[in-house]
Amino acid sequence: MTLTDLPFDPSLVLIGGGWRAAQGGATLALIDPSDASDLARIARGGPEDIDAAVTAAQAARDGGWGRMPAAERGRILTRLAGLIRARVDWLAELEARDVGKPLTQARNDAVALARYCEFYGGAADKLHGQTLPYLDGYTVYTLREPHGVTGHIVPWNYPMQIIGRSVGAALAAGNACVLKPAEEACLTALAFAWLAEEAGLPKGALNVVPGLGAEAGAALAGHPGINHLSFTGSVATGATVQALAAKHVVPVTLELGGKSPQLVFADADLDAALPFLVGAGIQNAGQTCSAASRVLVQREVHAALRDRMAARYAALRVGPALEDLDVGPLISARQQGLVACFLDQSQGLAMAARAEVPEGPGYFTAPTLLDRVPPDHPLAQQEIFGPVQVIIPFDTEEEALRIANGTDYGLVAGVWTRDGARQMRLARGLRSGQVFLNNYGAGGGVELPFGGTGRSGHGREKGFEALYGFSTLKTVAAYHG
Ligand code: NAD
Repeated sequence: MTLTDLPFDPSLVLIGGGWRAAQGGATLALIDPSDASDLARIARGGPEDIDAAVTAAQAARDGGWGRMPAAERGRILTRLAGLIRARVDWLAELEARDVGKPLTQARNDAVALARYCEFYGGAADKLHGQTLPYLDGYTVYTLREPHGVTGHIVPWNYPMQIIGRSVGAALAAGNACVLKPAEEACLTALAFAWLAEEAGLPKGALNVVPGLGAEAGAALAGHPGINHLSFTGSVATGATVQALAAKHVVPVTLELGGKSPQLVFADADLDAALPFLVGAGIQNAGQTCSAASRVLVQREVHAALRDRMAARYAALRVGPALEDLDVGPLISARQQGLVACFLDQSQGLAMAARAEVPEGPGYFTAPTLLDRVPPDHPLAQQEIFGPVQVIIPFDTEEEALRIANGTDYGLVAGVWTRDGARQMRLARGLRSGQVFLNNYGAGGGVELPFGGTGRSGHGREKGFEALYGFSTLKTVAAYHG
């Protein structure tokens, strides 16, 4: 069903405070994954739109936005947070229809977007340099300064969370932003920009150019006028955009994929672990960078845990996003096909459980739990990005650590054990950007620095740490005798 009565026109780009058609005049279809119907038309922005957006951002950087006191930037972000909170249900419905995400999960993302604006609104005037001891007769200090113009390329799976953590932090640090949302889902990016205007963000401080990755995305990544690029998406595209940005020596933050493990030891509280183990696998139909797609379990409790996970899987309700069940559709027919290709490789593996999926035109895939998967099997190594979890039994802590660290990725890990010394050993030993001990936080944690090691990327977003990434340090050495 087509969307009506939006307060902005989704087929336009936002550049320098003006909503206008993409210069090429073309648009793209936005599809509702729950029923494969047309939801809206969005702009197919191209290099000339990106060029105009970067010019507008440069003007904002050199003009009122660049000179605005940090406290005032913070007040604008705080006002924006209030506007988002007042429209959480509206934003949740837009995201649910655009991404196919069950309404409650979409609502959590809208609240997280408000939290990011609150957090970075409050932090804007607390980012500062230091004075440094140096030679006699000198006073030396550092200044924290914005990069200038920051580019933001975001994927379709968590638009609101990723815009909050990257654009929110970049604006707080004083940058002017050019945002390229994903072509599969970009309604909340446009809604965010519309609300930011309402909150009083000056023209050009945030510019939004929807379009295809190979067109608008590549033009932004390779633009000589940006001073920093934040990219969230797949490893392959991450490598491409890093190479494009390198042409102009533009620094890049890469938030890429994962194959995150949760390690369950025999002494763990299985009742406490169970909802986190399954939830972190099927949240957003498994299309989560920090999905816990590998469950490593000590052999003594393997059968008990598998049976309890299987019972949860069997009870999962799958259906359209607005019905707000446990699992929605995948984002697209393409993604559905990719997950099906992965599952074709599961012959010979034990299937512990498979949930029911509804008939219909939506892009549904049955949540699938595979048991006793060898750690080097492709399904235990590659990011599937669908509701598929593998169970891998182990005997010793050393073996668990070796398996956990035995992929190309290193984004998030979870450990379930009552043994405090083991918790500390594994927290140090796991090759991962975040480690959760007796809990697991896929996608959450506005305050907690987040990012990868290995192929999961580099740089950190979220928390106060993000403000260091979205700023640069200048050292001033004054000789006064
Ligand atoms: P993708 O890499 O295909 O697309 C991401 C973004 O990049 C989109 O906006 C797309 O238009 C753009 N893009 C595509 N080709 C481009 C090009 N040549 N130049 C510039 N931009 C281009 O990723 P996806 O399939 O949309 O997202 C899924 C991936 O994102 C998964 O691997 C997932 O793990 C990862 N992800 C990571 C995080 C994280 O924080 N680490 C969060 C969410 C998603």
